[in-house]
Amino acid sequence: MNLLDKHSVRALRACVGTCETTLIPRAQWYRLGREARDQLTEAGFRRSQARGLCSACYEYARDTGTIDQYERRLRPSAWLLEDFEHIRDTLPVGVSRAERLRRAGDRLNMSPEALDLALRRAGVAA
Ligand SMILES: [Zn+2]
Repeated sequence: MNLLDKHSVRALRACVGTCETTLIPRAQWYRLGREARDQLTEAGFRRSQARGLCSACYEYARDTGTIDQYERRLRPSAWLLEDFEHIRDTLPVGVSRAERLRRAGDRLNMSPEALDLALRRAGVAA
């Protein structure tokens, strides 16, 4: 079994810094136990810090004064929408809108209301 599937996490994309490590979203990372995080770290994954950067690249950019070269990625972000669409597409057909928002919200660490609002603002159908 794939390590990501085993821990029910989805790697998003490579760090936009120099390391090109594949990042795991913070919300997913913090849901994991220490053992799972250690396994993922050993396999070469890193927690997303901010601005599309891993923690090492983030700290380097901050310390060298280049952090402003990296765009902030505040919610509702492309990442949130990608996560939501991925979760939505894995739900069984016929699940109600409220149920979709509840289940996706659980996995994104957001209330259904906050997720609904973010999706409405972004013009994405729940
Ligand atoms: Zn990096």
